[in-house]
Amino acid sequence: MQTVIRSILGGVALGSLTLGAGLAAMFAASWLGLGSDPWVVVAGITIAVVMVGVLTGLTMSRAMRSLRRDLEVAEGGRHLVGPRWMRPILRTLAEYRIRHQQAEVAWRNRERDLEIRAHVSESTRLQSEAVLDVMDEAVVVCNTMLEIVSANQAAARLLGFDLEQSVGRPVSEVVRNAGLRRIISETIESGTGAEPRRGEVRFKSGSACEVVSACAVDRRGRTSAVVTVLHDLTREREISQMKSEFVSKASHELRTPLSSMQAYVEMLVDGEAEDEATRQEFYGIIQSETQRLSRLVDNMLNISRIEAGIIEVDRARIDVHELVDRAVQTLEPQAREKNITLHTEVAPVGTAVEGDADMLQQVIINLLSNAVKYTPEGGRVTVNVDSDTLTRSVHVAVSDTGLGISPRDAEHVFEKFFRVENYKRVAKGTGLGLNLCRHIIETVHRGQIGLESTLGMGSKFWFSVPMGLEPARVAA
Ligand code: ADP
Repeated sequence: MQTVIRSILGGVALGSLTLGAGLAAMFAASWLGLGSDPWVVVAGITIAVVMVGVLTGLTMSRAMRSLRRDLEVAEGGRHLVGPRWMRPILRTLAEYRIRHQQAEVAWRNRERDLEIRAHVSESTRLQSEAVLDVMDEAVVVCNTMLEIVSANQAAARLLGFDLEQSVGRPVSEVVRNAGLRRIISETIESGTGAEPRRGEVRFKSGSACEVVSACAVDRRGRTSAVVTVLHDLTREREISQMKSEFVSKASHELRTPLSSMQAYVEMLVDGEAEDEATRQEFYGIIQSETQRLSRLVDNMLNISRIEAGIIEVDRARIDVHELVDRAVQTLEPQAREKNITLHTEVAPVGTAVEGDADMLQQVIINLLSNAVKYTPEGGRVTVNVDSDTLTRSVHVAVSDTGLGISPRDAEHVFEKFFRVENYKRVAKGTGLGLNLCRHIIETVHRGQIGLESTLGMGSKFWFSVPMGLEPARVAA
């Protein structure tokens, strides 16, 4: 731009200079009457040239200053300073510059606007992807050409495709389940105004999903995509089956002592217990059934409280040694009745843990009580307490010389209501004691519990708990 202005001004100045110089020389020669003396002509021309040059230079520099100001200010309607004949050119140049600057500003604004929009749409896309990825439900979005536009991790896992490679590929290639493909294409066919299509699809793995598929519309109300959400029903069905199994097992277990109590009470009411000894016997049975019932209810409540995460955990520093001593004292009379020797082997130091004393006490009593129950007369039960400084945990093992448990039954002993069929006559029980032990050790104390047993040779139930209790998930 400046080059153009300079060349225009340069041309104008040069022309003026030549013209002015010629005129001044002729005028000077004739006025002085010097005829055609070449020195005089040269002197005159020189003076004229200098004068014209100075004048033109002054004019040009004014014009240049004016133009620069005008260009810098870049505003229309400004009074232009400079020779009259140059003003249209100056004005045109100034206007051109102004328009150019305005266009540049507008372009920059538009560029910034586009950048902001691109940024917003990128962050919206990332947000949507993040939302889709944290969803448990599988989501597949495809366009009207039945090509995958986006999907989430849950969909990739459920439908078994590679998330990265799925985008842009036809649904028919990516989704192998025919039922699901049919629901998606039916959704497109039924169009925008239709209700979302619902259905259930089954997979070869045996899992089942509830499917909801609906059209997404653009601003003009036309179908732009089909969004399909798959909700896995497998886990829900498992949970509801577990619940109904629990209810039926629990009611069965509750009914047994209740029916027994009812029968004995009826016999007492009907006067069937004629002598005092029989009556005392009936009272004893009713009492033990009541105790069993209350143990059952307590265990059920404790297990469900731990499972629901609402059990109160009273954490404190406790010495497992003391808990074992107390449990042995409690079980001593029962053991003595069966002539069973109770023996303890406790490490001299390092048996303190951070945990709930009552709950850990209950675990040791349950294991010890089982050992006494399922060990025939004259047997031996040993409680061993040791600490492992490497894993920073305290290890407790209750071993007996009793009936032992077969490998097949051993797999189930920690399940709710499980009782070894053949031992039901050996001792009464609820089938919930070991399940509660497992919950207390694993869920509340972040420990481990296990069993080693040989059928006919005896069993060793063991557990280990960390010396320092990590914050448990269970609400304190
Ligand atoms: P229960 O109240 O029936 O004892 P548990 O949950 O404590 O319930 O135990 C479940 C089952 O595991 C028992 O019914 C019994 O069949 C078996 N069992 C537990 N401890 C022993 C053991 N020390 N020896 C043999 N069998 C045992």
